[in-house]
Order: sequence, then C-alpha cells, then structure tokens
Amino acid sequence: MSTEVFDVIVAGGGPAGSSAAYTAASRGASVLLLEKEDSIAETVRTSGVTWLDDVHEFEIPRECYNEIRNFSFQSPNNTVTVTGTTPTAAVLDVRKTYRWLASQAEEKGTEVRVGANVTNVTKDKSCKDSTVTVTWSENQKQSSLRARVVIDATGFPSTVCRSMGLAGQWRRFGAGAEYEAEADYIDREMWWLMVGQRYSPAGYAWIFPVSDRIVRIGVGVGKPESDADPTRILGRLLEEKEGPIAALGRIRPIEFHYGLIPNDGLSRTTVSDNVILVGDSAGQANPLVLEGIRYAIRFGRLAGETAAGAALSRRTTKHDLYPYEKSWRDTIESRIRSAGRIQDRWIGLSDEEWDRELDVIRGMTAQEFVGFIKAEFGTLDMVKMATRHPGTAAKQLFRMALGRKSVGGR
Ligand SMILES: Cc1cc2nc3c(=O)[nH]c(=O)nc-3n(C[C@H](O)[C@H](O)[C@H](O)COP(=O)(O)OP(=O)(O)OC[C@H]3O[C@@H](n4cnc5c(N)ncnc54)[C@H](O)[C@@H]3O)c2cc1C
Repeated sequence: MSTEVFDVIVAGGGPAGSSAAYTAASRGASVLLLEKEDSIAETVRTSGVTWLDDVHEFEIPRECYNEIRNFSFQSPNNTVTVTGTTPTAAVLDVRKTYRWLASQAEEKGTEVRVGANVTNVTKDKSCKDSTVTVTWSENQKQSSLRARVVIDATGFPSTVCRSMGLAGQWRRFGAGAEYEAEADYIDREMWWLMVGQRYSPAGYAWIFPVSDRIVRIGVGVGKPESDADPTRILGRLLEEKEGPIAALGRIRPIEFHYGLIPNDGLSRTTVSDNVILVGDSAGQANPLVLEGIRYAIRFGRLAGETAAGAALSRRTTKHDLYPYEKSWRDTIESRIRSAGRIQDRWIGLSDEEWDRELDVIRGMTAQEFVGFIKAEFGTLDMVKMATRHPGTAAKQLFRMALGRKSVGGR
C-alpha cells in the first residue's frame, strides 16, 4: 500500500492544532489533523478562562462561553473586588469551543482522524518530507504517513519535537486540579482567585463560573517550586469550605480535570526543517495566570498559514519557516519576560505580603486589571497606576511590568 502524503500534518486536536489546520486548509493545503483521543476534547485539561476581546476577534460563538464582569481576590486577611461596567473576560465551555474550532478546520477541508496517537516523526533523507508514525487506538496497529510540514500541537507532552530530539522535558511547569461542579449559589459574572499558603504554596486557587448552576473550582501549584499535590489541596479546600468556597453552598462535583502547563519562559526554538511547534508544545503561555488558549488559537492560525505557504511552495527549511517564529516572538516575547519577573515575585510572597499586594489591585479599574493580568502592559497605564499608588509594593510591581528601572517619575 502506498504511503499517504499531505502538505501539512497537524499532531494534536487542541486549540492550537485545530486553529493551525483551519488556516492551512483555508490556504489550499491538503491537511490531516491527528488527535490521539477518540474524540476532540474528550479529556478537559484546562479551566477555560480567556478574554472577551480575543473571543470576539476569533468569532467564538456566544453559546460557547460565560461572560465575566467582576474579579474578586482572596488572600489570608484581605478581600478585593474589581467591578467592571461591562464584561471583559470569559469562561469557555471547553468541549464546545474546542469542537467548534475543529469543525471550522473540517469545513475548510481538513481531514480529522481521531484515535490517532502520533508516536514518532522522522525526517526523510532528502529532508523534503517527514514521516509520521501513528498508532490507531481502534486496533493498536501502526501506520506511516508523509507530510511536507508537520505541526507539533500535542501540548505539554510535545511528542513530535521530543521524538525528533528537538526539545527535552519541561523543567518548570504548573500542575492544576479542578472540579467542574454544581453549586447552590453562583454569581455567574464574578470569578475568584485565592492566594496565600493555605490555597496554594506556589500558585493560586480559583472559582470560575460556567453558568448560574455550574462552577469550576481548582488549585494550581508551580513545579519545581513546590512538591505539593494540587488534587490533595483541592480536596481539603472543598472539605473545609475555605474562603469564598463556603458561599457556594452545597457543591456536587460533576467532572474532575487535571493538567500540566509549561512555564519555562519562551525557551524553545519553534521551527526546524519541516517542523513547527505551537501552543503549549511551544511554551506559549502567559506566566501571570498560566493561560495559553488565546495564544494557542492566535499562533495556531499563524503556524497554519506559514506551514501552508511553505508546503505549497516546497520551501520548508527552518529558514523558510522562521517568519512564524519571528512574528510570534515580536508579539509577546518582551511581555512574557516582564510577566515572568512578576510571577517570580508572586511565587515568593508571604501571606502578609499577599495581603498588601491585593491593595495594589484594589485601585485598578476592571480594564486596567485585565490589561495587567493579560501581560499587556501599556506604558501609559502603568505610569498612571504607579502615580495613583504611592506605596513601594505598587512601584515595584509596575516597574517590573514595564521592565524598567523607574516608573511614575522616580
Ligand atoms: C489546570 C490547567 C488550567 C488551565 N487554565 C487555563 C485557563 O483558564 N485559560 C487559558 O487560557 N489556559 C489555561 N490553561 C492552559 C491551556 O489549557 C493551554 O495553554 C492550551 O490548552 C494549549 O492548547 P494546545 O492546543 O497547545 O494544547 P492542548 O490543549 O493540550 O491540546 C493538545 C491536544 O493534542 C492531543 N495529543 C497529545 N499528544 C498527542 C499525540 N501524541 N498524538 C496525537 N494527539 C496528541 C491531546 O489529546 C490534545 O487534544 C490551563 C492549563 C492547565 C493545566
């Protein structure tokens, strides 16, 4: 039997993979999307918070998300709520959204095959194509496929680039455990972030409302900073009904979610001959709240465009694919570096310091807060906020955001 050949093979049917397949197919490339699970988004590994301006830009349908207007924070001895006049964030129905993204790719002509575990990728001798080895969950048989360009969108495990020896294990990452649960009393417009030792020794806990009836309650822990198990902390928080969890009334878990997200800065080179890395496999995450869905979609689309252009013109060297890497780095690299410094500061804060840090958030408007937490540090906003907050903690924070020695005239 002859080996099937595609212009672009995308490994992984998460937001990065589906978005890459969508634009690659839109450009006229023959595209195969391989997902190892038996359906798209069979396992949910994310809390699904993102930002409304991105949701609108990506044209995610309204039935896929719940809008968030107000942002509350709990530290051991402080509570702050930033109230918005209009919604600025969104909690996604993750399955619906990811399946919608995959259906968009299919509509453009992508062939989607599920139960397809990509186990190995090798470059052909000519270096013109790559061979992708797949194990099918249906019968555990292996087969080989060929592609001009392979996109590694396998997320945290980064199977393609690791099998090719292009990257090693992530050294720094976040581990998160979460219940999607029914609860008696839910304010569907308000999220909660909870910080301090009792919520997470190196990270935070959260309550994200999905609807009037359903919330996601979770705990994230930074590795290797802490060896704490987020699942155990979550169990304790639910049992003891810590902080704002008590106000939810009775909680009835529906589904457990667990996942890992890279937090290694932007340490990987994301193009090689015939190969592009995108989403979590490229380490494209905002370290402030470890969110990566919007980057996965945005840079997935970019990766698909670049891959299609390269495959169709038969110019698929690392050099040919480099514009992808340059473009995404130009967009986020300096922000991610600043956000990484702020994250390092937050990981080291004591409970008392967190109580004070929340006072800095207290003075922000919802727009300012969202800009800050998204790591979109506008110079004018940071200077304005530093002027309003005369305290040392605030000055340090906004200075880090700008990556500068001084802010607010000091
Ligand atoms: C606990 C937790 C909470 C999070 N909360 C948020 C949040 O609130 N907001 C946010 O923006 N981000 C959040 N993130 C991060 C976010 O989930 C990721 O950044 C995002 O999912 C990255 O998308 P991706 O497509 O690169 O990878 P993934 O979503 O991981 O998708 C990878 C896909 O590839 C498939 N796959 C893996 N290996 C193979 C293989 N060998 N062959 C074929 N298919 C394969 C997987 O089954 C999966 O479908 C969270 C992460 C964690 C761990």
